[in-house]
Amino acid sequence: MCGIVAYVGDRQCAPLLVDGLRKLEYRGYDSAGLALHTGSGVEIVRAVGKLANLDLALKKHPLSGTTGIGHTRWATHGRPNEANAHPHVAGGVAVVHNGIIENHVELRKQLQQKGFKLSSDTDTEIVAHLIDEATRAGKGTLSDAVRAALAQVRGAYAVAVVSQSAPDEIVVAKNESPIVIGLAKGETWAASDIPAILEHTRDVLFLVEGEMATLTKSGAVITTLE
Ligand code: GLU
Repeated sequence: MCGIVAYVGDRQCAPLLVDGLRKLEYRGYDSAGLALHTGSGVEIVRAVGKLANLDLALKKHPLSGTTGIGHTRWATHGRPNEANAHPHVAGGVAVVHNGIIENHVELRKQLQQKGFKLSSDTDTEIVAHLIDEATRAGKGTLSDAVRAALAQVRGAYAVAVVSQSAPDEIVVAKNESPIVIGLAKGETWAASDIPAILEHTRDVLFLVEGEMATLTKSGAVITTLE
């Protein structure tokens, strides 16, 4: 289980997210990546190895945007390569995940039978497809789509989601894996551990089991996964 950082506000967030991930380096990781809403859609940059490699990848493909998520991965399902690095994308949805989706084999089969094309060996990519499917089915807000997707999932997770359909929002959710939310003036943060966001705010709250939250620059709306 490794690191998650998320940001929504008015600042360009790619460097902020990488800095936050750096504060979680002590947890160990094999690859890293970011997904940002660029204004027109969701774009990702990922790299195997140290965050310095992600820095280089971001120099080649700079990401511009003020809503984004970042991840350092400790592989549990699928080799540590770029295709398996997070964020995972399906349609306009990008997801980062800490933990393990236990029923990933059966969910993968169901998605493949419906014609979805999977591009990694991870358990996490399944969550991205389930959220994309719920979004396409018109299941309300991004938060509603995440709730509908996670209702099908068994396992331990902390997730952060950014979607083309919601330019100024991040949705986070947790079950048996921590998410802390940080509130600051005109910006809202989330992370898998406090050190990632401590530099920006001391106004923090931990989600409890089965909670999720929609983050905007003005704060967090906390709901349940039920
Ligand atoms: N199970 C996921 C994977 O293998 C997440 C690993 C993590 O917590 O970093 O990609």
